[in-house]
Amino acid sequence: MALMAGKRGLIMGVANNHSIAWGIAQALAAEGAELAFTYQGDSLRKRVAPLVASLGADVLLPCDVEDIDSVDSVFAALQEKWGKIDFLVHAIAFSDKNELKGRYADTTRANFSRTMVISCFSFTEIAKRAAAMMPDGGAMLTLSFMANRVMPNYNVMGVAKAALEQSVRYLASDFGPDAVRVNAISAGPVRTLAGAGVNDARLMFNYQKAHAPLRRSVSIEEIGKSALYLLSDWSSGVTGEIHYVDSGYNIIAMPRTSELKA
Ligand code: NAD
Repeated sequence: MALMAGKRGLIMGVANNHSIAWGIAQALAAEGAELAFTYQGDSLRKRVAPLVASLGADVLLPCDVEDIDSVDSVFAALQEKWGKIDFLVHAIAFSDKNELKGRYADTTRANFSRTMVISCFSFTEIAKRAAAMMPDGGAMLTLSFMANRVMPNYNVMGVAKAALEQSVRYLASDFGPDAVRVNAISAGPVRTLAGAGVNDARLMFNYQKAHAPLRRSVSIEEIGKSALYLLSDWSSGVTGEIHYVDSGYNIIAMPRTSELKA
């Protein structure tokens, strides 16, 4: 029997076929999961609807996490359609790209708050609603990036990811007694819409590719396979974990001296 047969879950964060959430959705669907999706705004609906249809899914709901009523509407619709869910994928982040360059110290209060609400607190708000729909237990996953290091230009988003990772630990503790597991994948750089918002993204992508132990970037299919582990029974004893899927880049403190230009 397929690994995810009989399991239902919500995928939030597909913008197009390059999205990490799309790689995860494909891996889950290939193992028999039944999926519901959200999209942010009408212009993305046109991109997302054919993808969702290609997996045979028929639940596609609008959701902008800045509007808590739209989040509530998603869970009300799922409650009516399915009554319960088994898993949740949160692959949502946003910051003003004018602040994803230069110094972190120059972040504005307005963009700090907005970045934190969309990229961090939305996971807590959504996780609370999802857990209430997991009477038989379940699994949740969010996406992080290099949260305990400093990356040029990543700035406030790096601060939001650090808070997101700590949220994963607190939520894992809150929901653990109800058999709901909460984990994150810290993915290596992937060329997506969100990724392109960071200044010099191409340079960062190429640098990590050159210096990661595997000497390559990761694909959304690879992130999908690791997500499948964290969202399925294969990881039944794992919660509160930040799992790196980054060709090993996070272990490197300094490139080999033979690779450094004199
Ligand atoms: P993406 O642009 O394909 O996905 C980002 C998604 O966030 C989009 O679907 C967008 O609609 C959604 N979003 C933004 N603001 C929203 C809002 N207010 N309400 C609802 N949805 C909103 O890019 P991606 O790279 O696949 O990003 C998915 C996740 O992966 C993000 O959390 C990102 O930080 C993380 N991540 C990305 C990389 C990378 O290099 N691309 C690496 C590690 C982690």
